[in-house]
Amino acid sequence: MLRVAIDGPGGTGKSTIAKAIADRFGIQYIDTGAMYRAIALKTIMCDVNQDDEVSISKMLDNTKIDFDNNKAMLDGEDVSDKIRTNEISMRASHVSRYSCVRRKVDNVSKYLASTRNVVMEGRDIGTVVIPDAEIKIFMTAKAEIRARRRVEQLLLAGKEAEYNQVLKEINDRDYLDSNRAINPLRQSEDAVYLDTSNMSVEENIDAVADIITNRTGYQSIKEKR
Ligand code: C5P
Repeated sequence: MLRVAIDGPGGTGKSTIAKAIADRFGIQYIDTGAMYRAIALKTIMCDVNQDDEVSISKMLDNTKIDFDNNKAMLDGEDVSDKIRTNEISMRASHVSRYSCVRRKVDNVSKYLASTRNVVMEGRDIGTVVIPDAEIKIFMTAKAEIRARRRVEQLLLAGKEAEYNQVLKEINDRDYLDSNRAINPLRQSEDAVYLDTSNMSVEENIDAVADIITNRTGYQSIKEKR
């Protein structure tokens, strides 16, 4: 089996790299953050307060989440676009501290990783979801660099972006994700640490692909573009 676990703070480029790795090695990409985001979206749709753990738990009894074919699914609906807002980012960080929410996403993630070769990204993949993953990578970059990349992305997409505001959101989310009581963001002892602050996207993909090939013998099925 080839299970690649990529963890790290928000805005590090994990999704871009994980998608490219999935493509190169012919394995499935799973974005666990998208499932936390889908739950956050449902709390808004159902008007459930993000601090009301009991109501969130009840809501989850009638909620189905999945990550299928590169799409975040909420109760059978593709919500991939709807979950990409700042409001959902912050709310996902808030609700992901509850054990009922983590259990819901963990169950789906663990099932997916037990039935196929995957590259799965999130905050606790190497520590909790796939502790015996063949490859574990902890990817990070300086907050200022992540903020600058995010601003460029937003401006390119024709959206408004203010550097100081983006940086504040990145720091707030880092704090919440690293300091929650249950399964906080942390590097697994056996993960390879990768600081991508000074890497281009292509260098970053190559670095991860080399780690996979050197450690497992798995070869890319596609030539580099
Ligand atoms: O990776 P992404 O930014 O989409 O994740 C959204 C939020 O979901 C994170 O800020 C974090 O609070 C939560 N998350 C988590 N564990 C994961 C993946 C995401 O707690 N494995």
